[in-house]
Amino acid sequence: AQDVHPKFESAMQADIQRVFALQQQKALALRSSNKTERVAKLKKLRDAILSRQDAIQQACYADFKKPPVEVDLAEITPILAEIKHSISHIGKWMRGERVWPTMLMFGTKTRIRYEPKGVSLIIAPWNYPINLTLMPLVSAIAAGCTAMVKPSEMTPHCSAVLRDIINDVFHEDEVAMFEGEVDVSTALLELPFDHIFFTGSPAVGKVVMAAAAKHLTSVTLELGGKSPVIVDESADIKKAAQSVMWGKFSNCGQTCIAPDYLYVHESVKDAFIKACREQLEHAYGKDTKASPDFARVVNARHYGRIKSLMDEALDNGATLLAGGDTDSEDNFIAPTLIGDIPDNTRIMEEEIFGPVLPVLSFSDINQVVQRINAAPKPLALYIYTKNPQQAERVLTQTSAGGSCINSCVVQYLHINAPFGGVNNSGIGNSHGVWGFKAFSHERTVIENKFSVSHWLAPPYNNFVKRMIAI
Ligand code: NAD
Repeated sequence: AQDVHPKFESAMQADIQRVFALQQQKALALRSSNKTERVAKLKKLRDAILSRQDAIQQACYADFKKPPVEVDLAEITPILAEIKHSISHIGKWMRGERVWPTMLMFGTKTRIRYEPKGVSLIIAPWNYPINLTLMPLVSAIAAGCTAMVKPSEMTPHCSAVLRDIINDVFHEDEVAMFEGEVDVSTALLELPFDHIFFTGSPAVGKVVMAAAAKHLTSVTLELGGKSPVIVDESADIKKAAQSVMWGKFSNCGQTCIAPDYLYVHESVKDAFIKACREQLEHAYGKDTKASPDFARVVNARHYGRIKSLMDEALDNGATLLAGGDTDSEDNFIAPTLIGDIPDNTRIMEEEIFGPVLPVLSFSDINQVVQRINAAPKPLALYIYTKNPQQAERVLTQTSAGGSCINSCVVQYLHINAPFGGVNNSGIGNSHGVWGFKAFSHERTVIENKFSVSHWLAPPYNNFVKRMIAI
């Protein structure tokens, strides 16, 4: 981290506190904001994004050579879809829900109101820097919250575009962005936010949750981990290879829900690896480095981290099945498959978060299930099979944030389904109504119409006893 003179550090803290106080005031006003006002803000945000599509593509390319098509697919399109979906549904979400009375509640009218939590904090990672900053922001705006936003320091070009968008659309009393490293996050986390939405690693997720605990602030934690993929003996090998190679190597393997390691049935292992090699050549040509469709590792630190995971495995007896080329000048690591993974290597313990896929084989699916269950619950688990019972067995016997059968990573794109992890891979959900709910408090309001509940007061006679025995 860059050294900061104490004078400026305290200036940063003072600025954070100043904006926080402004947002607390604004959050009170936003409690009564209506659908039309929230929709107008979302439309303004949408237009600001639309008018900067080229700038977003350029920034993503400047930060880690993210291919423009991947920027459209994974950064811009999902946010525009989320905004469109929110605009269409916000009226229904804001109306809340009517619930029917039980016998004891007879004579009451009950509604669940979704009230804005208030001032929120959004901390984002670098791997989908635009998407993972703006996606929760859309939910915060839809829910009527204010937001203090901290993007990752590792993608400065994307941060510059984000700053431009946020400053163009919002006044700082509603949405304000703070750039910087851990010191800025730490200063933000000291404040008593009404909700924190954090996307990043499980290790930092624990830091965020500990800070939130001091104020009993609610949290949404979108974390990561090692997501397994299983290819069984009945799978369509060619289609499975196409799908896994895309899910694993788009964004240079730096995707939270990318397959982290793969179990293939031993009877189809050779055919599957051959199909993977063919697919990689089809996707990126003979020289991946020259392909315009393959991104780079985000920086030298992560390049060194991934290379050392790969080298440690290879030095201890693992074999190279595909790829393996590296170039430190360019933070380039080719799409790489390794096999014969020795036990107790870091590559099977740490989230790889880069373009290296360990391939293990199995003969008994129960052993795969045992191995998955021995590790922290993953963010995703994928199975490629033509046998529905096999898929069902694996789903029932394991736990994961989300899953696909005969596909991978696309669960992120489904707005009508919740996206989130479980335990070590996350707490809470995002997207669509689940994002709206993350930034809302579900407030039960019971209106007494002609309730008899006051008859439940002492003296506790037989009538009361009969009522509560129901
Ligand atoms: P990270 O946890 O290192 O950083 C995330 C954010 O937290 C950054 O803004 C960073 O500045 C800040 N931060 C870092 N250290 C901090 C500290 N000690 N205290 C407070 N804030 C701190 O994660 P990353 O490297 O940016 O992203 C990669 C991780 O994020 C992977 O584990 C990946 O699986 C996960 N991820 C999850 C999702 C999801 O939706 N579940 C999406 C993308 C990435």
